[in-house]
Amino acid sequence: MAPGAIEHGPSAKRTRHDPDIDSTPAADMEVDEAPAKRDVVYEDFEGYSPQLMQQFYRRLFPFPEMVRWLSYGHKKNPHPMYDENYLQRREISMTLDGDIFVRYQSFKNADEMAKTIRARNPLKIDIGAVFNVDPAKRNAYSSFGAVERELVFDVDMTDYDDVRTCCTGADICKDCWPLMTIAIKVVDHILREDLGYQHILWVYSGRRGVHCWVCDEKARKLTNEQRGAITDYLKVYKGSENNKEKKVSLQGSVLHPMLSRAYREVLLPAFLDQVLPRQNLLVNETQIDTLLAMIPDEELAEEVKAKWRNGGRRASAHEDENLARWKDLEKIVIREKKRNIRLGHCLEEIVFAYTYPRLDLEVSKHMNHLLKAPFCVHPKTGKVCVPIDPADCDNFDPMGVPTLASLLNEVQRFRGDLREPAEEAAEAALPTDLDKTSLKEAVQLFRTTFLDDLEADCKSDIERAYRAKKDELASRPTTGW
Ligand SMILES: [Zn+2]
Repeated sequence: MAPGAIEHGPSAKRTRHDPDIDSTPAADMEVDEAPAKRDVVYEDFEGYSPQLMQQFYRRLFPFPEMVRWLSYGHKKNPHPMYDENYLQRREISMTLDGDIFVRYQSFKNADEMAKTIRARNPLKIDIGAVFNVDPAKRNAYSSFGAVERELVFDVDMTDYDDVRTCCTGADICKDCWPLMTIAIKVVDHILREDLGYQHILWVYSGRRGVHCWVCDEKARKLTNEQRGAITDYLKVYKGSENNKEKKVSLQGSVLHPMLSRAYREVLLPAFLDQVLPRQNLLVNETQIDTLLAMIPDEELAEEVKAKWRNGGRRASAHEDENLARWKDLEKIVIREKKRNIRLGHCLEEIVFAYTYPRLDLEVSKHMNHLLKAPFCVHPKTGKVCVPIDPADCDNFDPMGVPTLASLLNEVQRFRGDLREPAEEAAEAALPTDLDKTSLKEAVQLFRTTFLDDLEADCKSDIERAYRAKKDELASRPTTGW
């Protein structure tokens, strides 16, 4: 094998910097001694393969952070209130090569988790609920059920295919990604301001969407009914196959404060600055008809169209044509609103239809729903599911996230050699490798924007519960006569 090379499966393509290497048969054979570092000809890893994943789990996956998160303070420093079995009651499931799905796995600690994951080398790791007993031993108990689960949300770009003109299906680009940014902003704000949650983790799904984990204790302990009530609160988008032309219906003369705030602060600015111009909503013929169909007065829609046909308000040199046309439409609808009550929330409804988050609500309603773990690698894109800071989500670039191959190339450049570690080393964590790659930044963000505060709060909650219990015992009247 060439220096710095590891064995690859058929799906991993390789390119070489030095064209001569390809023609040298010896390059693919084992060499006895690694040459001095300066002589090493690196090969770039590309794509995705189980062999690369093995290296990823050995060298880069942040097991300690994952376990710190999922322990919710129940680890280290034996304390009378710590539940040492807490982590082990959590279901972790794995998808193995060949579509083999292994559910109800559990782990005692980070070492055990790392050892098993490294041995089984899953394509995907999912996180399930916390059960009343260790899910791996569920058959030994008469009752088995979920008792805790983060409140989770899943937003997928494919649900916006009727809004997007730039891409369809699994593709994303800089023109449609703002739709995800809008979803993060709106949902995050509602969760924090209206529902009072603080420990919220946003994660890029690795391909075309985002996941949200609400980790406050009161969120983890919500019943399925309460989860349903929260999803109802968030639901505005009432799209259905039979109701294509009008997907949002805003009731009442005044918008709900939550909706009016979302509209003012996020949806309208994003619609005007990003969605309208980038998706060419009023230049693209099909999009024009879709949008105008949302005006509940056909004559008026015709009038708007005629105005555009006749030139309408000319877009200035610096103004986008879509935006100029929107101003025409806005003016006509506002003028007519006084006469036609059906036009009440027409403009807002259009903006909501194009921008309000479209959540896969089934994922949020049930405790027992699995969701992909952060820091997994998406097999189709090779991208790592990195956390997103909601306070800085405008600057998140899904096209620039580290990939399996790019990270291993970074490790290779640092180490000069990625040959299989010795047997013992294979089981040991190699944390220094993470720090030498761009994944470090993502793990740091996970810690500083989410994990550190969560852990501190969990510990103080446990301490508070302990003191309360002690006080209660101390204040109990002594009975004696
Ligand atoms: Zn796109």
